[in-house]
Amino acid sequence: MPRSPIIRCGIVTRDDQLNQKLVPFDVPPGTTSIYVKYSYTGREGGNAIDLGLLGIDKEFRGYSGGSKFEVTVANDQASPGYIPGLLGVGEWYVLLGVYNITSPASYQVEITLDDSSRPCFKANPAPARASSSQIKRPPGQPPTFRWLKGDFHTHTLYSDGKFTLDELVSKALNRGLDFIFSTEHNTFSANLVWGSHVPAGFLVGRGIEVTTFAGHWNAIGLMPHQFIDPRIYDMRDKDASLVAAVEEVHKSDGFAILNHPFAECKCCEWTFSFHDHIDAIEVWNGPWKRHPKDESNIKAVEKWDKLLREGKIFTASAGSDIHEPRFEIAEPLTRVLSDDVSVSAIIRGLRARHVYITQHPSYEIEFYLCHNGERAGIGDWLKTTEDVIASVTVKGFPECEVRLITENGIAEKTSRTSLSVKMKANYIRVEVRNAQDDMLGLTNPIWIL
Ligand SMILES: [Zn+2]
Ligand SMILES: [Zn+2]
Repeated sequence: MPRSPIIRCGIVTRDDQLNQKLVPFDVPPGTTSIYVKYSYTGREGGNAIDLGLLGIDKEFRGYSGGSKFEVTVANDQASPGYIPGLLGVGEWYVLLGVYNITSPASYQVEITLDDSSRPCFKANPAPARASSSQIKRPPGQPPTFRWLKGDFHTHTLYSDGKFTLDELVSKALNRGLDFIFSTEHNTFSANLVWGSHVPAGFLVGRGIEVTTFAGHWNAIGLMPHQFIDPRIYDMRDKDASLVAAVEEVHKSDGFAILNHPFAECKCCEWTFSFHDHIDAIEVWNGPWKRHPKDESNIKAVEKWDKLLREGKIFTASAGSDIHEPRFEIAEPLTRVLSDDVSVSAIIRGLRARHVYITQHPSYEIEFYLCHNGERAGIGDWLKTTEDVIASVTVKGFPECEVRLITENGIAEKTSRTSLSVKMKANYIRVEVRNAQDDMLGLTNPIWIL
């Protein structure tokens, strides 16, 4: 039977901005469902307060940003973004993430508890390997590698996206992808239920977009119930919180990608350092330009290249960050050279920087260096102090310029679809641009040492 609602109210001011306010309430024995509804004043004027829920001992039980005003968490099910399962007895907290305050906001939280009998939730995460892997290794033979096509950054109704899980998969299949990673903002709730939405041969990897007040990053390759704490514990030493969180990801063999470092939205821009704990940088997020003056991806590629020149090597990766139907999944698309359609093989490919990015799935880049019969592909190292032969061939692109870029800038360019040239450099990478100088394709470098 539902009990009478518990009402909590209060005021938040500009001093609370970019902090979390915890509103405690008691959960008595026998409770099987918690319904939370909240509201606050000044939304029209720009006030924005996010919603989340913590169980006993501040265990994470869900987060929905500003996308939901009422949510349920129960033994057997939960609103998207929230974690179903047994409800611990004791003090719980409604979490109010005070994102933006333009004028003092009065908030009201209404909590309704219910003790009707309910079954227990059973998690059904997606397998970490596609059920019928398309890369088959004949017995006794070395592994066969293929460039898998995927998207490392996607959203659904489980955070602030507009798609159901099935709709996202159907878009991915129509685009010819081999995999996507599910990266909802600060919640793993989708990671618990993808199992019944993944068709044979396709892979959905587990991830979270760790959404902090100092920038966003993707934690991928997580365990089903793994939560990555987005809080910054000391604003004077933000990197300490980042490093601790990334270490949690690495402990489970996961991978950390710094997202959209120059995004224009509030708190989306990266204000941590480009710390070497981070494994990769999303140098291309969504359409190359979201509006004619958008320079966020241009700045990201420039920053990544500057770091390369300084000898700080991050894998360049990409993600569509798709939230809604007017955008395309896997624009841009990331290809990873893998010997299996599995999360671990894809992360191995990312770590080896065997990665390139194109605007469209039909665009392909083949790029390698040769020296004295030794060949090195994208992401590899070639040991020599002498000249090397750089060869690049592009397929499927519209009219474009193919550029070979070294630590000294553009070294060679052509409007033909292939180029083979003798060069000397510390690293060589490829960019493919159209007549407006917009990016159509981009590889990780090959290093020469
Ligand atoms: Zn983001
Ligand atoms: Zn995102």
